[in-house]
Amino acid sequence: MKQSFICPCYNEEKNIKPFAKAVLDAFANTDEYELVFINDGSADNTIGELKKLKKESCQNIKIINFSRNFGKEAAMYAGLEHCCGEYITIIDTDLQQNPEIVKEMINILENDKSVDSVCACQENRHENAFFKFCKKSFYKFADKYTDTHFVDGASDFRTFRKSVKDAILSMGEYYRFSKGIFSWVGFKTKWFDYENIERVAGTTKWNFWGLFKYSIEGIVGFSTTPLLIAAG
Ligand code: UDP
Ligand code: MG
Repeated sequence: MKQSFICPCYNEEKNIKPFAKAVLDAFANTDEYELVFINDGSADNTIGELKKLKKESCQNIKIINFSRNFGKEAAMYAGLEHCCGEYITIIDTDLQQNPEIVKEMINILENDKSVDSVCACQENRHENAFFKFCKKSFYKFADKYTDTHFVDGASDFRTFRKSVKDAILSMGEYYRFSKGIFSWVGFKTKWFDYENIERVAGTTKWNFWGLFKYSIEGIVGFSTTPLLIAAG
């Protein structure tokens, strides 16, 4: 298997079919790929749509069905554990990330053997100014006060070699913060400017407190500064 797509889905019933079609359109000339869907405890009919797709589609489809909502990090980890491609892409199922771009990512990996990972970096996100400010401040803080390099705008939309996947899976962290983990394991990464497309259906699963909790977990996981402050 050449290419695996890791596709986390939480309440994406309306997006499953158009997403699979977008991948099929982009990769029409090859059946050398698999779609690994992780249904992250959706409350809507995402699992029904996934089963229907698997039955009717010509694509290689794997479905992992969580018993409840564990979060995107857990979904990505499960996807990595169950994929078998030489190249692996993490991609959202809400069509905000265009599968056509994945071809460009793979081209970079095929033409430059020194590059192990190609990551989309979002300069411009379609979200409110407050969220933008909070995210920028988080990246600045995390980059300064942890030993890990955090790149402002780094997204989970990335394509990487199996060697990177193996390194990521070897880390048995309980609270996973992928943006930090990918940086921590090393490997040469090429950053790729990308502007997210607006969501077609459904809504973002993030709210202020969710993001706040996620960023605290990220900082605590990669820095001893909070412990030092508490000890002080
Ligand atoms: N997602 C998930 N579990 C969650 C939240 C989100 O699997 O608890 C999936 C979601 O279905 C989507 C991707 O992760 O495919 C990104 O989520 P979202 O679009 O809400 O994030 P945003 O694009 O707003 O950062
Ligand atoms: Mg989204």
